[in-house]
Amino acid sequence: MAQRRSHGLIALLAISLTLAMSACTGARDDDAAAAASESPSVVPVIPSPTPSASPSVGPTVKPVPEKMNLQRTTGFGGVALTFDDGPSAWTPKVLDALKARGVKATFCVIGSQAAAHPDLIRRIVAEGHTLCNHSWNHEFKLGTWSTAKIRSNMQRTNDAIHAAVPGAPIKYFRHPGGNWTLAAVKVARSLGMSPLHWAVDPQDWRRPGAGTIANRVIRATRSGSVVLMHDGGGDRSQTLAALPRIISTLRAKYKLVRLPDAL
Ligand SMILES: [Zn+2]
Repeated sequence: MAQRRSHGLIALLAISLTLAMSACTGARDDDAAAAASESPSVVPVIPSPTPSASPSVGPTVKPVPEKMNLQRTTGFGGVALTFDDGPSAWTPKVLDALKARGVKATFCVIGSQAAAHPDLIRRIVAEGHTLCNHSWNHEFKLGTWSTAKIRSNMQRTNDAIHAAVPGAPIKYFRHPGGNWTLAAVKVARSLGMSPLHWAVDPQDWRRPGAGTIANRVIRATRSGSVVLMHDGGGDRSQTLAALPRIISTLRAKYKLVRLPDAL
């Protein structure tokens, strides 16, 4: 009896063992199937070790502005103060401040404003400042237009300036908002104008206070910097109030120059 019982036990053990093994195998198969079905989505997620830029490539730079070769400095040690968005009612005050201190600057004028204030264009030129085209009506998207339309806008502005001062040299163009495109740069160059950007922008048009405007300019200016400020486009009392300290501080260290008309 005892032997039969043990045989029976062995048989039971064998059966349960087989069942357990098949269960295990089944489970393994399920896992394998799951892994196989997941693998296509899992594998790409694993980041492949991408080598960083090779040392010969050098540091990352914004490629587009470099291709445009925008002018951000005077090209020599002198520092250039530039005033945008005029001529306006503030322009005579800015001119007075410059004249009182014997400083020459550069004025990036809007064509429609030039047409409205030819007397101020004449005064800018008569007092020895440099002119710069800043589009007909401050069109922020000018550079996205067709070449013909960009050219017509720039030419119309130059014509308005020349209506005030025939033959006045206009050797610079500054895109509204600094929204340069290669097309705008090319058209400007074809009209004999260098694309004038800037190196120092105190955001004076936001009216952060005269002291802040002056501090920002003084802190950021280096040898050769082109400094952006505004004599139009709104209340420029803060810019005007900042000018005396900007001029006295900068000229202690740098020569303040107008950008040359001869390129
Ligand atoms: Zn502007």
